[in-house]
Amino acid sequence: MLRGLFKREPKGCEVCGNIDDRTHLLDETWRGRFPGEKRRLCLKCLKQLTQSKFQSFRGRCLLLEPVAKSNAFYGYTASKEDLRLIDNSPEGAKEAIMTLLDRVSGRCRQCEEEVASFLWVPAAAFNAKWWELRVAQLLDHPEDAFPPLCGLCAHRRVFSALEELQTRLDEMQPPVDETILMFSGES
Ligand SMILES: [Zn+2]
Ligand SMILES: [Zn+2]
Repeated sequence: MLRGLFKREPKGCEVCGNIDDRTHLLDETWRGRFPGEKRRLCLKCLKQLTQSKFQSFRGRCLLLEPVAKSNAFYGYTASKEDLRLIDNSPEGAKEAIMTLLDRVSGRCRQCEEEVASFLWVPAAAFNAKWWELRVAQLLDHPEDAFPPLCGLCAHRRVFSALEELQTRLDEMQPPVDETILMFSGES
């Protein structure tokens, strides 16, 4: 049954059919953990389809600026399994994340309208090296270095970074309400 091997990957964006753009894989299911779909999308459609996920997010999440040398943007929950992926010391990582997330309160520092639910961590805070991050080190930065943002403003910052870097995402996991951290990685 060799025929299957020659089946061609669908070309272009599954939503708008754009074939000029490099496509990105949006995995709403987080590799089967949550309900949703997996779709190959152009950047424009990826941006459009993820915007409502950020806006409807009802948790609190540490959002690390997407950086180069990565082809994925992952979400993590507070489960033991996820925390082990974040840090060699999962308990320490959880404590650090929760301390940082306590700073998410009140209105968005950008638009000053919507309620903040993301804490934005600029790439400079971890030298744009996702593979070297220790979450606890983020606590050494002054509080005002990480602005709390609403879903819409957070989404804008994520996509302006992705547009600037011209990263192609083999995997993007949009936020679900359980998400406590979003971060670049390698698929
Ligand atoms: Zn498209
Ligand atoms: Zn805002």
